[in-house]
Amino acid sequence: MVEEYRGVKFQIGENAVEKRTATSESNKEIIAEMISYAKILSKLGLTPGAAGNISARVKEGILIKATACEMGNLKPDDFTLVGEFDFGDFRLKRAVGLRIPSSETPMHCLIYNRRKDVNSVIHVHGEMFLKKEFYEVFRINSTSAELPYGSRESAEAAVEAIGKNNMAVLKNHGLVSLGLNTREAAENILKILGKVNL
Ligand SMILES: [Zn+2]
Repeated sequence: MVEEYRGVKFQIGENAVEKRTATSESNKEIIAEMISYAKILSKLGLTPGAAGNISARVKEGILIKATACEMGNLKPDDFTLVGEFDFGDFRLKRAVGLRIPSSETPMHCLIYNRRKDVNSVIHVHGEMFLKKEFYEVFRINSTSAELPYGSRESAEAAVEAIGKNNMAVLKNHGLVSLGLNTREAAENILKILGKVNL
């Protein structure tokens, strides 16, 4: 049975998304890096179905995986460039891409907003991350309540749980990892997995 979604996802402003490819000479390497790490994490079973998302900060905004795309099978055009997201009215104001950006776009944007030292954010799922023993042993903060993904509340709770760290558990949901670049954000996850008995 599919559980009913009880959150409020972001709105998209009229004509906010310019429908053309977001890929360019200047960002194709960053996109290729995200595609390859998304594939690695997918092979580890951390992104079932269309779960999980990945993004990187570039000078024009934030490149983020589009909604409903599988992490293990991403193509360059599965990334959308978010130029402006208004957290106040919870609305996407400006973007370039052929697809709608991930429903977790608000969380990614809020993290980049608060953490100028971070240039890549990855969110994955995985049963092992949800166990209290896991995040207590690795001293990873967790959000205190289970909140609907994509909602303003879940984005704010994630940022609060992350604080100055590079990882946090989203209670009963998954893990979010931050890095100076995508390699670092992915390696945080891989390092932890290497220490867990899967
Ligand atoms: Zn998720």
